[in-house]
Amino acid sequence: MLLTVSTTHQPATDLGYLLHKHPDRVQHFEQSFGTATVFYPEASSTRCTVALVLDVDPVRLARSRGKGSPDFSLAQYVNDRPYAASSLLAVALAKVFSTARSGRGGSRQELADRPIPLEVTIPVLPCRGGPPIAHRLFEPLGWTVEALPIPLDEGFPEWGSSRYVRLRLTGEVRLAEMLNHLHVLLPVLDESKHYWQGPDEVDKLMRSGAGWLPNHPEKELIARRYLGRAGALKRVALARLAELGDDDVEMVDPVEDEEVRLPEQNRLPLNAQRYAAVIQVLIETGAHSVIDLGCGSGQFLDRLVKSGAFTRVAGSDVSARSLQYAAGRLRLEQMNERQADRIHLFHGALTYEDDRFAGFDAAVLMEVIEHVDPSRLEAVERVVWGAARPGLVVVTTPNSEYNVLYEGLVGMRHPDHRFEWTRSEFAEWSEHVATAYGYTVQRRGVGEVDQTLGAPTQMAVFTRQEGRDE
Ligand code: SAH
Repeated sequence: MLLTVSTTHQPATDLGYLLHKHPDRVQHFEQSFGTATVFYPEASSTRCTVALVLDVDPVRLARSRGKGSPDFSLAQYVNDRPYAASSLLAVALAKVFSTARSGRGGSRQELADRPIPLEVTIPVLPCRGGPPIAHRLFEPLGWTVEALPIPLDEGFPEWGSSRYVRLRLTGEVRLAEMLNHLHVLLPVLDESKHYWQGPDEVDKLMRSGAGWLPNHPEKELIARRYLGRAGALKRVALARLAELGDDDVEMVDPVEDEEVRLPEQNRLPLNAQRYAAVIQVLIETGAHSVIDLGCGSGQFLDRLVKSGAFTRVAGSDVSARSLQYAAGRLRLEQMNERQADRIHLFHGALTYEDDRFAGFDAAVLMEVIEHVDPSRLEAVERVVWGAARPGLVVVTTPNSEYNVLYEGLVGMRHPDHRFEWTRSEFAEWSEHVATAYGYTVQRRGVGEVDQTLGAPTQMAVFTRQEGRDE
C-alpha cells in the first residue's frame, strides 16, 4: 500500500520539518499488522515528496480480518489488504505522523499553522460507492479531486470497473488537516472491517474531525460509516469476552443488553448460543438431572435452574472463587429448603475421581477441556467417561479454524487455553474417547457457521451405549 504527499511550497524540503521525518532517511515503524516505511522519493527545494509504504503481514492481517467482508470465506487466503490503501493505512498514517497530525510544527510552527500547496496520491484505494463518493467527501474540504476508476482487468474492458480508484487530491490545506482528513476518510471510503486500536472511537472521530467535520455536508454519512466499524468492534469485543465464559463476562453489561435487544438466535453472544444449544440437547434427550463440570461462575447453571426442565442440577469447579460467584448468582443463601435441595455446588477437580460426579443423567463440560493440560486430559476422560459414566456427556470447545474471523485475535481465544482444536482434531479425540469408554458420539457446530471454517464453537454429544451399564 502506498501513499505519497508532495508539496511545492518553497523550500519544499520544509516538509521534512513539518512531518518530523528527515528527508535523507528511510525509517521503519512496526505496526500491529505490518511495517510502515517512510522515505522521500524526491526532496529538492522546489518539490518534495514523502512516501508512506505499508507492508502488511498477511498472517497478522488474516487474524484481524472481519467476517462482514463480501469476499469473506476466501478472504484469509486471498485479499487486497497488502496491496490496496485502506483503513490500515489510515491507522499507520496517524501513528507515524502523530506529531504532525496534532498540528505541532516545531521550528516551522508558522508553516504548520497555514495552508500550503499539497498533492496526495493513493494509487489503489478501495472506494465503496466509486469516484462520486470520493468527490463528495473531499471536495467540501477544499480539495480538487481526481478519482479514476481502476478497471477490473485491463485485458477485459467489458468487465467494467473494480471497486478501487486511483485518487489524487490537490489543494492548499494545512498539513495537519490533510492528515486528519485522510485518517478519517480513508476508512470511510474503504468500509472494510479491520482492527482498531481502542474502544473510544467516537472521541477519536471528534478529535480527528475537529475544525472540519462539524461543517461537512456529508458529516452524517462520514460518522455513520466511520462508527459502523466501532459497532463491529463492540460486537467483536463482546463476542470475545463471551468466549471467556467466566467471570470477565459479568463486567460487560451489554452482553445481557444485547440478548434482550437481539432476540434472534444468530445475533446472541456466542456464550448464550452455547447455553441454548446445550439445554436443547439436554431436553431432547430427556435428561432430568445434570451436572455442569467446570461450571465457572455459574452462568449456565443459572439457565439450567431457570429453565425449570431439570429436577436436579449440580455444578463443580476447581476454582473456589468461581464457585463463590456461582453461589451468589444462584442466590443459594436465599433459597428455601426445597429449592436448595435441587441444586448443589461443590469444589472438585476433574482430574481426580470423585463420587459426587456420578449419579446424573447428563454431564456438561462446556469450554472446559481446553483449559486442561493435554497430558492431564486422559485423567479427565477416565474420571468422566470411565468412572462417573452418565448416560449423556456434552462437550463444547472452540473451533480453532474459526479464529481467523475474530478481528484482532492473535493466538488463542483465552490466555488460559492449553490448546484449541480444529474440527478434525476434535473429531479424532471424541471418537477415540467414545470408542474407549463405550459411548457413541455426534458432533455439531454452535454459532454462526462460516462455509469454509465451520462454526465458532464445536459440540460433541456422547451417548452411553445400551447394555454397557445398568
Ligand atoms: N463452563 C463455564 C466455564 C468455562 S471456563 C462456561 O462455559 O461458561 C473453564 C472452567 O473450567 C473454569 O471455571 C475453570 O476453573 C474450570 N476448570 C479448569 N480445569 C479444571 C479441572 N481440572 N477441574 C475442574 N474444573 C476445571
